[in-house]
Amino acid sequence: MKRKIYMVFVFFAVMLLLAACSGTISDSASYQEESSIELNAMDTYMALRAYGENRNEALDAAKTEIERLDDMWSVGKEDSEVSILNENQEGEVSDETIELIECAQKISEETGGAFDITIYPLMDLWGFATKEYQVPEESSIQEILMNKMGMDKVTVDKSTHTVTLSDGAQIDFGGVAKGYTSQSIAKIFEDYGVEHGIISLGGNIQAIGTRIDGSRWRVGIEAPNDHFDMVGTYEAEDEAIITSGAYERYFEEGGKTYHHILDPETGKPAESDLISVTIVSNNGTEADCLSTALFVLGKEKAIAYWKEHSTEFDFILVDEENHIYISEGIENHFESSYDYEEVKK
Ligand code: ADP
Ligand code: MG
Repeated sequence: MKRKIYMVFVFFAVMLLLAACSGTISDSASYQEESSIELNAMDTYMALRAYGENRNEALDAAKTEIERLDDMWSVGKEDSEVSILNENQEGEVSDETIELIECAQKISEETGGAFDITIYPLMDLWGFATKEYQVPEESSIQEILMNKMGMDKVTVDKSTHTVTLSDGAQIDFGGVAKGYTSQSIAKIFEDYGVEHGIISLGGNIQAIGTRIDGSRWRVGIEAPNDHFDMVGTYEAEDEAIITSGAYERYFEEGGKTYHHILDPETGKPAESDLISVTIVSNNGTEADCLSTALFVLGKEKAIAYWKEHSTEFDFILVDEENHIYISEGIENHFESSYDYEEVKK
């Protein structure tokens, strides 16, 4: 049996390269020193860059924050807040966990359940939790779908900071935690007076301000397959650029590929007609939920959702025919060497 898992880090490499190529510091008046760190956390490769006087302190604080949130939300750590909650089915949690659940509830409601953090038992069944991948029996999938899943099994009592899970439901913040984390780092940078920086948490990019010469950060949108060298470049300022794709994490069995974004309706990897979904938004947490949710919804419903929420975010979609679609709000900041279609409101 052939099993393979492959995580792609090209996205950030491309982004770094682009930023490096075009980031030459020429104006001595705007000269600011640069520092960067790299680390592995939340099951992915992360890289952070900051400028200005307090950049090193800001990066240290950001690293501490990443580790704190990872310790709190990793389903891979037995003593994380989420693992303890999944085990005990009820417990007092942090404000941040409540915030994450509320964001998940909102996006879940708005997308007809395409985003569903009670996905954990299914992630585990498919082996994504343990990296012991398997294609499960249909009956095991159905058992979970019918008994253990649904956002109605997650109840939050804000007055007591208590979350209650029912019927053995278990939650997984994999589709939202990195977005929250990048947003949290943006706040830390702000607190330290860091006005320019760029953060990559796997496929999740957060731009802090502009580059130091005042021009926007050039963020490469990663190629979802070898048809592309890169989907295109988005010029970002103070916003999150978050991508979900079937190519990010998967295994192969019997010549078929199984990826890590599951459709809560079928319990299987979403058979989306999209291969890559990028969300551009000022709200990193929502952008992360949305990248996953719109991937599950597929092209038509994703575009319909955007039309209802076009003031809140923009998108770059790639469908299975390798066609690129962008929402009109980012037309002035997107470039590609391929043809693309602009979607109007
Ligand atoms: P990545 O974490 O690779 O950047 P995503 O943001 O799309 O990609 O999140 C995928 C993760 O979200 C999965 O690894 C799993 O933890 C979780 N997940 C999978 N399917 C769903 C879903 N339908 N709703 C909510 N979370 C999901
Ligand atoms: Mg996501």
